[in-house]
Amino acid sequence: MDIQELAANLLAGDRRSLARAITLVESGRDDHRVQALELMELVQKSKREALRIGLSGTPGVGKSTFIESFGMMLVGRGLKVAVLAVDPSSARTGGSILGDKTRMELLTRERNAFIRPSPSQTELGGVARRTREATLLCEAAGYDVVLIETVGVGQSETVVAQMSDLFLLLLAPAGGDELQGVKRGIMEMADLILVNKADGDLKAAAQRTRADYAGALHLLRRRPQDPDGFPKAATVSAIEDAGLAEAWDDMQALVEWRKTQGYYAQTRADQAQYWFVQDIRNGLLGQLDREPLKSAIKGYAAQVSEGEISASFAAQTVLDALKGLP
Ligand code: GDP
Repeated sequence: MDIQELAANLLAGDRRSLARAITLVESGRDDHRVQALELMELVQKSKREALRIGLSGTPGVGKSTFIESFGMMLVGRGLKVAVLAVDPSSARTGGSILGDKTRMELLTRERNAFIRPSPSQTELGGVARRTREATLLCEAAGYDVVLIETVGVGQSETVVAQMSDLFLLLLAPAGGDELQGVKRGIMEMADLILVNKADGDLKAAAQRTRADYAGALHLLRRRPQDPDGFPKAATVSAIEDAGLAEAWDDMQALVEWRKTQGYYAQTRADQAQYWFVQDIRNGLLGQLDREPLKSAIKGYAAQVSEGEISASFAAQTVLDALKGLP
């Protein structure tokens, strides 16, 4: 594969090249990894910037429906939209949340939209790195907005928030007056809480839920990167296209403010550093699952359980061996 040519085509906005480039960064093969790194270096120089929007919500709140409507609205305004996913369940099962493209029927057919399912990987760390790289590739290919979807079940929100400029939490109207068990840590990451399905019979419940969350957000510690009025809770209806334009206005206002205050660039710099360290950590952990260490560890483990050598000594021996590896 000619990486220079692939990079040139990608920078020219060719979708097939973008898709091939993402396949390359998703590959677990060592020779592909070398090519992927060369590619990432080449496209890094484009200095293009997309707005990276993370979106989380439990299954059924309407994430796909929202992405379809919101994405179509952005495309209608002349923007190019890419959709990626971090799927914590695919990390376990090999499935994927965006695998079923019929969930975004209109957007899938748009020339100015690019939808990519979550890579199937064995662990979240691998999915995270690949999604971050895919985000950078979409940026380089000239996409204006990159939406990164994840299912709200825990760890994956942190991963997505760490690669986004804005983090949206999508909720459904609550049945009673209980908050839907949204963890405090996740609320703290949200820039915008959108209560979806504010239509028909659910409208009143959605408005109550919005008010509950607005109150809850108020109680959180004020973050320096927020202007007055943020983080904010609003209602939307993905099905009726209601509130989407307002949500987009809010996002733009927030980003503008953060840009002028310097928080936008600072967050990106912090994130780049975070992923740098994560990559080292994941790389080191990855070495333990590979030969020659994998067999060595197994061998020492047996000796440790037989009481032949101490756990500490065995661990130190493996760590020393790690230093000698290429
Ligand atoms: P996801 O699992 O979060 O991606 O949710 P989906 O987008 O697949 O939507 C789950 C269900 O909620 C589907 O039956 C949708 O038709 C419905 N839904 C999504 N958005 C809305 C909305 O704005 N209003 C109403 N009433 N239903 C919606």
